[in-house]
Amino acid sequence: MLDLVCATSNPHKLREFQLAATRGISIRGCTAADCPETGESFEENAVQKAQCYYKTSPSEWLFADDSGLEVDALHGAPGILSARFAGPGASDFENNTLLLRKLAGVPRARRTARFVCAIALLHDGVLERTFRRDVEGLILYRRSGWNGFGYDPLFHYPPLQRSFGQLAPEAKWELSHRGQAFRAMLDWLAGQE
Ligand code: IMP
Repeated sequence: MLDLVCATSNPHKLREFQLAATRGISIRGCTAADCPETGESFEENAVQKAQCYYKTSPSEWLFADDSGLEVDALHGAPGILSARFAGPGASDFENNTLLLRKLAGVPRARRTARFVCAIALLHDGVLERTFRRDVEGLILYRRSGWNGFGYDPLFHYPPLQRSFGQLAPEAKWELSHRGQAFRAMLDWLAGQE
C-alpha cells in the first residue's frame, strides 16, 4: 500500500483526491498548517505549500496542489490569487460575484478561461517533481449548477455543454485540471515501482 499525505486544509480537495485513489493507494490529510503562498506561479506555490506542510506532517510521500482560474479577458487573473480574488477570506460567492462584475459586457467569444492545477510531490521532504495540467472553458454570464466549489458554477465546459457546477463529482474528476494532474502523478509513481 502506497501511503500518500495530501497537504491541504481544503476538505473539498481532499475529498476529490480520496475519491480518485486507485487500489493500492491511500490518501490522508494532515494537520492544518498556516503556510505562506508568496510564489509567482502555481508550481512555486505548490512546492512552497508542500515544504511547509512537511515540517508539521513529515512523511515519506507528501504532495500539495495549487490551483486556480485564469481568465484571458482579465490577463490571466485571478490566477494564483483565485481563492482571495475578492479579498482575504473571501467566500466563493463573493469571488464569483466579483468575476461576473469584471466580465460585464465581455462577449462570449472573449470569455475564454482555464482551470490550472500544479501538484508538487516530495519524497522524504525533497522535491521529486511537479505535475501541471489545464482544462479550457468559458465563463458564463450567471451561475449554473450547485455541485463542486469555487468557480465551478461559472465555468462552462464546451465539450459537454455543461458547467462544472452541473457535473457529478466523478464526471468532473475525469476531466478536471486536478484529476489530470493527480493521474499524471500516479502514473509517474507507478513507473517508480
Ligand atoms: P488554492 O487552495 O490556493 O489552490 O486555491 C484554489 C482556488 O482556486 C479555490 O479556492 C477556488 O476559488 C479556485 N479553484 C481551484 N480549483 C477549482 C475547481 O476545481 N473548481 C472551482 N474553483 C477552483
